[in-house]
Amino acid sequence: MPIFEFSCKACGKFFEKLQLVGREEQIKCPDCSSENVEKKISAPFLPSSVGKPADSGSCSTPQKSDCQTGG
Ligand SMILES: [Zn+2]
Repeated sequence: MPIFEFSCKACGKFFEKLQLVGREEQIKCPDCSSENVEKKISAPFLPSSVGKPADSGSCSTPQKSDCQTGG
């Protein structure tokens, strides 16, 4: 279910709200009933380049002096 996170700009309260697709309803803060809320992105869309293994021959050990960057 498309549950989005919101943050109230009036009182700073964080809350989750189920928002149906195709229905643009005004989200109100459950705490102060303010309409000045901001939708937060909880699950950002990361590119495929993120998450690859670190041991791909890169210079991760600072003790190796013969480790040159680039090339
Ligand atoms: Zn509020």
